[in-house]
Amino acid sequence: PALVKDGSLRTLSTSARRSTVMQAWVIDKYGNNSVLRYTKNASFPIIHYPNEVIVKVNAAGLNPLDINMRGGYGAATLAMKRDPLSINKAGSEFPLILGRDVSGVIMECGLDVSYFKPGDEVWAAIPPWKQGSLAEFVVLSANELRQNLQVSHKPKSLSHVDAASLPYVAATAWSALVNTGGLNKDNSAKKRVLILGGSGGVGTFAIQMLKSWGAHVTVTCSQNAEHLVRGLGADDVVDYTAGPVERKLHTLEKFDVILDNIGGETEHWALSLLKPWCGAKYVTLVTPFLRNTDQLGLADGMMQTAVTVATKALKHITKGVHYRWGFFAPSGPALDDVSEMVDAGKIRAVVEEQFSFAQVPKAFEKVEKGHARGKIVVTVT
Ligand code: NDP
Repeated sequence: PALVKDGSLRTLSTSARRSTVMQAWVIDKYGNNSVLRYTKNASFPIIHYPNEVIVKVNAAGLNPLDINMRGGYGAATLAMKRDPLSINKAGSEFPLILGRDVSGVIMECGLDVSYFKPGDEVWAAIPPWKQGSLAEFVVLSANELRQNLQVSHKPKSLSHVDAASLPYVAATAWSALVNTGGLNKDNSAKKRVLILGGSGGVGTFAIQMLKSWGAHVTVTCSQNAEHLVRGLGADDVVDYTAGPVERKLHTLEKFDVILDNIGGETEHWALSLLKPWCGAKYVTLVTPFLRNTDQLGLADGMMQTAVTVATKALKHITKGVHYRWGFFAPSGPALDDVSEMVDAGKIRAVVEEQFSFAQVPKAFEKVEKGHARGKIVVTVT
């Protein structure tokens, strides 16, 4: 049943006299691109809680996470989040809809929603445990108290395609740089920030946000992405394909914050680029958190994660720098701020390529190849 705005309890599909099915790209098992299946018969989403809204999807953005989730990454952990009491059988997440970014229009609001109304143009980053945006419609939380709010009014100056390129990377960069890195619009002026991997989704957004807050931004990327990142405001650009990148970075003044979008070997040398004993932080987005909880279960995985991060943090704190893990966190209020920055002309969308709804497998192939220069977006309706 749906708790809809007129106070009645009805199934949304009958209340709105809509079809009970919709078009979507789903997966029925984990695997390579061949598991993607187009259907006209995906279940129409239903409002289960009074703080939810149904959004008609105009455009959906893809992220590396979609490729990973298609292959089963995070499956055990996300299953626990979806079904904490393990009531459902294994595989109950299928048919699973991927796609974490959405730009669209509110169709229907739950009883407690008054910040949004049907017809509002919105954008959102959809948490990975929820059904995604590669579908005609998606249900999202729009809590009136603005806690757990996922939805935000879309920037007026952006098309749906451009808007769908931003929410997930914006929410991730915000969470990593603001919540974990301690930066904000009032304290970033003259701070020196290094972004390892500036040419992809997170990097192209983070450069612009930091520049609009007055930070000095150094970026590592391939030589052929230099023009792109400089155009977004990067002050110093280091080509990582031209020899050991750490050697060149060591010749530069030290940094207050490092955002690591690359991971792997980087953490062996990157922390020595921070200014010691003045609160400088290294925040990496490439963490073993979901892998640990997938392999060891939630409790042991979290324990393993806590031990790993605490050991690393402790090791570095003795050298006067902070080691942190950064995570995507859905945040409507952060998106509201980003929306203002976009409409003020401080942040633009960087859409590398746009695909039609029929071309979703091609869009996945493109993301999977790597070497992103901004974002990949699918037009849905
Ligand atoms: P993208 O795939 O959009 O971008 C990655 C970019 O890095 C590409 O432009 C790539 O271009 C470049 N790159 C690759 N190798 C290097 C290198 N050694 N040095 C510098 N640049 C390099 O990814 P996103 O920006 O969306 O995400 C970045 C990372 O953060 C991903 O690993 C993602 O999984 C992770 N992430 C984690 C989240 C979390 O909650 N922890 C949330 C969101 C993202 P090229 O290869 O041509 O140089």
